[in-house]
Amino acid sequence: MTNVPFNPSPKSLSSGVEKSSGVVDQRGRGIRDLRISVTDRCNFRCVYCMPKELFGSDHAFLPRAELLNFEEIERIARAFASLGVTKLRLTGGEPLVRKELETLISQLAVIPGIDDVSLTTNGSLLTLDKGRALKDAGLKRLTISLDAVTEEVFSAINDVKFPVAKVLGAVDNALAAGLDPIKVNMVVAKGMNEEEILPMVRQFKGTGVILRFIEFMDVGNTNGWKLDRVVSAREIVETIASEFPVEPLNANYPGEVASRWKFSDGSGEIGVISSVTKPFCSSCTRARLSAEGSVYTCLFASEGTDLRALVRSGASDDELRDAVQNVWSHRDDRYSELRSDATVDLPKVEMSYIGG
Ligand code: SAM
Ligand code: SF4
Ligand code: SF4
Repeated sequence: MTNVPFNPSPKSLSSGVEKSSGVVDQRGRGIRDLRISVTDRCNFRCVYCMPKELFGSDHAFLPRAELLNFEEIERIARAFASLGVTKLRLTGGEPLVRKELETLISQLAVIPGIDDVSLTTNGSLLTLDKGRALKDAGLKRLTISLDAVTEEVFSAINDVKFPVAKVLGAVDNALAAGLDPIKVNMVVAKGMNEEEILPMVRQFKGTGVILRFIEFMDVGNTNGWKLDRVVSAREIVETIASEFPVEPLNANYPGEVASRWKFSDGSGEIGVISSVTKPFCSSCTRARLSAEGSVYTCLFASEGTDLRALVRSGASDDELRDAVQNVWSHRDDRYSELRSDATVDLPKVEMSYIGG
């Protein structure tokens, strides 16, 4: 873990970035959203995220005592909110393997300044009752990951033979619980599921579900990433347009990571996230908190800063806030813009650990 010296008034180095009322980093970026990984465990073994060879039955996941408990997560989230964070997203690992997640959501939803609590899940544990409990607790938005609708393709990706129908059932459960609009995320990688782009569009077009395509990213060190496996956002849109005409839409808000497209026949919209071919570092206002309480200022960071030790040593709210401010004010990350640079060889933290 790194410790950086305290610098209360960082200098803004860039323009054109929405300024936060709280802290800004070395590139003038405020801190607006926090992704919270609530567990490093998952019941899937997606080949691009937690390949079985590396996350086998002997893999050492974090012992329970090392995970932040809900009170600790809430305290840290409050510190982030006091510095400008308005959106929280729970992720993992698979966040729904963490028991009583709705209790955490109800704690987070009432934090002053927080106007949006969302969740990314593989959908495997999303029953109707769970959907209702999440909604009642204050969950605002839900993203379900699904990388294929063809059984064999999906099975080969999740690598635990999890059926497509159950994830589609989770989408229905979420809608029935009033958790709409739902987004469905599909990571696209060459040789894995590029043939599934059109079947996925056929499945969700006209249902109100917003399908989002994500370029395969070089997160972590274990997923066998190579540039030639990336299906670019442009290729994805061209593939869709070959059957379903689409037109570009404006962003919902400055710094939105997905480019938005609407079907020309008015039957809904899709999003495409071009993290590799069109990086959005200059407007990146996102921090990440790992399940064991380290804060990372970039998805591709190799080191985080431990906040759990501070929380467990009895630090005051002001001390916690200062620590977060200190980390953010020193932030200079723009990994995706530098991808071709030498930094690419640095060991990076795994996606299942830090959260997507
Ligand atoms: N288990 C949950 C799920 O799958 O939705 C939450 C955690 S998962 C790490 C969050 C998101 O990251 C998923 O949509 C997943 O497909 C995506 N993801 C994982 N590895 C990725 C990679 N190398 N490139 C792009 N997206 C990735
Ligand atoms: Fe689990 Fe999500 Fe990673 Fe798949 S992408 S292995 S569901 S954490
Ligand atoms: Fe943000 Fe890092 Fe991704 Fe750039 S590479 S958009 S700084 S998380």
